[in-house]
Amino acid sequence: MSRQRNWIASTAAGLSALSACAVAGVAGTAHAAPAWCSGPVLDAGALPEVVDRDACDLRGRVVRAEGGAAVRVPADETSVLAHVLRRDGRSELGVTTERGGSRFRLHREAPEPRRTAAAALAACKDGAFNAGKVTWPKGEAVKWSYHAPPDVDLGVKDPAEAVGRGVKDAFEATTDCEDLGPKPDIEQAYQGTTDREPNIAAAGECGKPDGTSVIGWRNVKGMSDQVLAMTCQWGRGGTAIEGDTAMRAVKDMWWEQGQGTCPKGRYYASAVATHETLHVLGLGHVSGNEHDNLTMSPTVAPCDAGPSTLGKGDYLGLIKLYGERS
Ligand SMILES: [Zn+2]
Repeated sequence: MSRQRNWIASTAAGLSALSACAVAGVAGTAHAAPAWCSGPVLDAGALPEVVDRDACDLRGRVVRAEGGAAVRVPADETSVLAHVLRRDGRSELGVTTERGGSRFRLHREAPEPRRTAAAALAACKDGAFNAGKVTWPKGEAVKWSYHAPPDVDLGVKDPAEAVGRGVKDAFEATTDCEDLGPKPDIEQAYQGTTDREPNIAAAGECGKPDGTSVIGWRNVKGMSDQVLAMTCQWGRGGTAIEGDTAMRAVKDMWWEQGQGTCPKGRYYASAVATHETLHVLGLGHVSGNEHDNLTMSPTVAPCDAGPSTLGKGDYLGLIKLYGERS
């Protein structure tokens, strides 16, 4: 009996594979979906850079890169970019759905360049930046809401203050450098606290965009223990439509307020929030240890408040994306 059911199931699968071939214009040629197209979570490293829907329909599927950056592929013409900040480095993955949902383009991170012996440049002398392709509309303040941590002791006295200060330092391009010029022409519009969690789903992937940008605390079970924070940015036609950041809400383990003393191994919440907010605004990482003093260096060291103040390259990246505030 069960054997018969299996036969029926496999016949049905065979028929649907045939009909997929017919749609693709190769009726009568039985072909299986590529191996990289199967499973609940697809491996970004195994996918081609451009995927045609006829070969593998990625809409609504979860794709994950090495290191944990993962996205749910949008159904319509939308881009999604995931940045994961880990204690041991970073992971990034982007997918853009093109041509009305008939084609998907992957944006994978380049491998981390070989670490050189070069000393890091001073932040105020280092003009390197990596400006992304998705920016917020000109002349509109970016609306965002804060999500408080679940009922765990983060080790941070005032989590809302730390995140709010971190976000402000990004928008206001807080810097210790002299002579960097006017602030970037992009401002925040804080909407208050929300019960809505940052838009990162259970497997640790950027979820379906909902148009509400949430920056705050969350612990996602599907994330590796190494993950400190994750930011997702969605866009349409190069215009950002949503940006969410989840700071990892783990019981008294990692975080510090960002002012005063810092027990070994902890991270300044405000400094991480500044780095993540610059991702929300469209900046990517600047790799290579000569850039370690920039906020957009892909690594953040414990007890390092440096990312709270933007370096020259971080500032120039924002100016490139938004111009100068008048
Ligand atoms: Zn990052």
